[in-house]
Amino acid sequence: MEEARNVTRVNSRHTHIPKSGLRFTFFVKLEATESEAMTDKNQEITELAEYDSDEDAVEFPDNDKDDDNKNSSKASTARSGTHIAVHSSGFKDFLLRPEIMRAIADAGFEHPSTVQSECIPQAILGTDVLCQAKSGMGKTAVFVLSVLQQISPEDSDDSTICLVLVHTRELAFQIRQEFERFKRHMPNIRTKVLYGGIPVPVDKKELRESTPHIVIGTPGRTLHLATEGALKLNRVKHFILDECDKMLENLDMRRDVQKIFMETPHDKQVMMFSATMPNDVKQVAKRFMHNPHEIFINDGSKLTLFGLQQYYLKLEEKEKNRKLIDLLDVLDFNQVVIFVNAVNRADMLNKLLNDENFPSICSYGRLEHDARIETYNKFKKFESRIMVATNLLGRGVDFERVNLVVNYDMAASEDEYLHRVGRAGRFGTKGLAISFIATDKDREILEKVRSKFVVDLPELPERIDSATYMNS
Ligand code: ADP
Repeated sequence: MEEARNVTRVNSRHTHIPKSGLRFTFFVKLEATESEAMTDKNQEITELAEYDSDEDAVEFPDNDKDDDNKNSSKASTARSGTHIAVHSSGFKDFLLRPEIMRAIADAGFEHPSTVQSECIPQAILGTDVLCQAKSGMGKTAVFVLSVLQQISPEDSDDSTICLVLVHTRELAFQIRQEFERFKRHMPNIRTKVLYGGIPVPVDKKELRESTPHIVIGTPGRTLHLATEGALKLNRVKHFILDECDKMLENLDMRRDVQKIFMETPHDKQVMMFSATMPNDVKQVAKRFMHNPHEIFINDGSKLTLFGLQQYYLKLEEKEKNRKLIDLLDVLDFNQVVIFVNAVNRADMLNKLLNDENFPSICSYGRLEHDARIETYNKFKKFESRIMVATNLLGRGVDFERVNLVVNYDMAASEDEYLHRVGRAGRFGTKGLAISFIATDKDREILEKVRSKFVVDLPELPERIDSATYMNS
């Protein structure tokens, strides 16, 4: 297989992006594929389900309208090579236990980010926390470190003391890895993921044999196991919702979350996080909490990432494949996520890219469970550089080296756009996001993105200086 040709071909810092004019071989191939696959009018263009119920993923829409604003003024220094604002204090100021401090050093974290500085001191006291902060700014470490800090010796007995609920398996898997990373010097603490795709008897057997102290689960499977008594939640001390707007805006999922919540003790810490938090969801979230510490690091209009260059490109549907291949061919990137709006489009596009010697992989909810986690891992470990994905990977997941996002199909809402492009430019690094605008609806979303967020989102120029989106 021809190896990752896009990088080796680009030598000049200024990448010239051809308006059209592909090599003839591509042209012939793409004409066929376009008519076969991507422009079939009968093709179902549905949003992929965005969270996992126990067995099947279910679809639900994004919401909008952020409002609250509590800008932090404490950001002071910038991490070298990135655009992130970090707090002048260090992790040592949080007085974390030595095992955790060692793990933080092992992870290479030098300074807490603003959201970490704002939240961790409160969270380690057991206060409820409702937190909105940009994508990629380290919200996961807020709850992971805070929970680990609060684990007491008697918690290492046989009870589940922390429950984290998330909307996808990939995110559950990722958060477990984060707990594992920061508890590496606390070997007695056990973690477990619970999600559909694994036979229920397997989960039950494992829970019988060993009680995890920290469970990260999707609502469907977690509720299933809790209802049948296999998962005991009566000693939970920390209840966490990540991507909480996603978890609460859909009524089915909210109902599952509520049922699980009712299984946990009244007296516990509740923490909720997201980059986007519509006002109605915020009100719902607060009903789960007692006098929460509310942190809104960035309000709705300021959620865009500093290091991320964002462009749109107007084109016709039938031009998308050719344009995408042009871009992959000429742009310099470490890893790219290409978003499409339907499972069949993801599959087709992935095949097309592979046929054209762009070794891509592809992820969506209906893939076999093992294949989904394997795909996630492959990309996370940088074994593949091109991922075609549906909204399933549109939020939460952290692929450190992604510095290019292409909305092959434009996002369906401005919040969805924000989450998707936030897959590039993690933790203040640089990145590039390009959105294909083909329909009136796409144009409408583009305008909404522009009016809601403070963002410069011009048309893709003919040349882009790769230094503006590649980290040095
Ligand atoms: P969010 O949940 O806010 O979208 P994540 O928790 O996924 O962001 O963190 C984004 C990336 O930043 C991860 O790769 C994480 O390891 C890294 N990160 C988090 N906090 C720090 C820190 N203080 N220093 C360096 N890297 C960090």
